[in-house]
Amino acid sequence: MRRWFVGLALAGLVGVGSAQAAGLLGFRLLDFNGVLVRWGVTDAQPVTVTYGFVEAPVTFSDARNCRAMVPMDDLLKSSGLDRATLEREAAAAFEMWEQVANIRFAPARPGTRPDIQIGAQRDPIAFAFADVAYVKGDGAVRPIERSLICFNPKKRWKVGFDGNLGVYDLRYTFAHEIGHAIGLDHPGGHGQLMSMHYQETFRALQTGDVDGAVRIYGRSPSSQQAASFAK
Ligand SMILES: [Zn+2]
Repeated sequence: MRRWFVGLALAGLVGVGSAQAAGLLGFRLLDFNGVLVRWGVTDAQPVTVTYGFVEAPVTFSDARNCRAMVPMDDLLKSSGLDRATLEREAAAAFEMWEQVANIRFAPARPGTRPDIQIGAQRDPIAFAFADVAYVKGDGAVRPIERSLICFNPKKRWKVGFDGNLGVYDLRYTFAHEIGHAIGLDHPGGHGQLMSMHYQETFRALQTGDVDGAVRIYGRSPSSQQAASFAK
C-alpha cells in the first residue's frame, strides 16, 4: 500500500505529478506516481463514503500524516465551539462536494469504522492535514481505502469569515481537507477552495474544484437535473 499526505497551507507538497498542467485546469488530482485514487470503483452508481470523529486516542502507524489523533473536545473548548457546531459545519462541507459530484457522504453508524476519520492532532503541526491510503494493485485508478483528516488543536478555529487569516473557518477547512480525502490535490495558484493557501474571499467550491470532483466521480444526479432544467 502506498500513502500520501497533504495539508492546508504551511504543509509541504511532495511528489506532485508533473503530467498535470499546473493551474490550467483549476484542479489537480492526487497522483501517486501515476496512480490516481477514488472512492469506489465506478461512477455508474454513486458511492457512499462514511465519516466520523474519533472518540478516543488512535494511532495509524502507516499514515504519513494524522498518525496520531485524539478527540476534538479540547479543540472545541479552546475555540469556544460546541459539538453541534462541529457536526453542522462538517456536514455542510461534505454537502458541498455531494451537490456537485456523484458521491454521497453519511455519518458512520456507531460501532463501525468510518471511511473518513476526523480528529485533532495529538502532535500539533500547521493547521490541518489529510492522509489518503489506497488499495494496492493493478490499474491506473485505485480505490481509496481510508482517509484521515486532522486539525491542530493548538490553533484557534472559527465559523465564518472575519478577515483574520490566522484563524481558519472550520467549514472552509473541512471542505478543503475533504477534497484531499476524495482524491484532489492542490491546483497551482490561487482562486480555488483546493488552492494551497487559506483565503476568505469565497466559502464555496469554485469552478476548478467542481471540475476536479466531476472528473473523478461524474456529476451528481441533482446537478444533472438542474442542468437539464436550465436548457
Ligand atoms: Zn491542502
